[in-house]
Amino acid sequence: MQAPRPVCALAIAGSDSGGGAGIQADLKTFAAHRVHGLSALAALTAQHTRGVTAVHVPPADFLRAQIDACFDDFAIGAVKLGMLANAETANTVADALEARAPVPIVLDPVMVATSGARLLEDAALDVLRHRLLPKSALLTPNLPEAELLLGIRIRDRASMRAASSALLGCGAGAVLLKGGHLEEDADTVLDLYADADGVQELTHRRLPHSAHGTGCTLASAVTAQLCLGLPLREACVAATGYVHRALAGGYAPGRSEVLVLDHI
Ligand code: PLP
Repeated sequence: MQAPRPVCALAIAGSDSGGGAGIQADLKTFAAHRVHGLSALAALTAQHTRGVTAVHVPPADFLRAQIDACFDDFAIGAVKLGMLANAETANTVADALEARAPVPIVLDPVMVATSGARLLEDAALDVLRHRLLPKSALLTPNLPEAELLLGIRIRDRASMRAASSALLGCGAGAVLLKGGHLEEDADTVLDLYADADGVQELTHRRLPHSAHGTGCTLASAVTAQLCLGLPLREACVAATGYVHRALAGGYAPGRSEVLVLDHI
């Protein structure tokens, strides 16, 4: 007798030629969770551990073909959205997802790499805000991304709390607001998890600044856990643990000190 079709995770995101972030991190994360990973490349970056040297955005109809091919054949349990590059790409993703039965979407609003490279054009922000955010089960911004989405400054814990509620008000089912950019001298990081039941504090050890691909990995680990059936808040806690474990074996594959994660 044939085994039932496994539930698959789909990443719609950018490629990192250096193998540390983006789609490469997503697929490694899915594999480490024993979830079959699908991918639709929304952008390709020429990238090493010192920065992004070029970006290519494939034609919108080719992105659409990749997403449609995945939905036409696989049982998709959850979708992760990462680097979407520009407004046309973001609109294509929204159109493609609207044409299908709803699945949980984890939206990592990738905007600027730690190296400083822009990964999203300004014009795409509105598409994220008005089309993708309201469809998302979970939004996973860091503080600079939350500031750009809301057009505000986040300076302290009180404004961080207000920002998590404001982002929830934009229509996401839940928000995991990553507080790593606040109180940078502290040994711990405060993340906020906001959903219809309120705002909860999730504190964890601070990751080193030189780690690359942690945001992508966190969002794809949540996506994998949703495919495995974990409720959203538990999936966020488990995914944070996964990023920390993967960092414990982190290594520097390039000429810089930048660490990538060991996806075990
Ligand atoms: N490259 C791609 C394709 C990404 O999706 C991301 C982040 O989401 C990055 C680079 C940046 O990674 P980091 O800021 O962790 O260095």
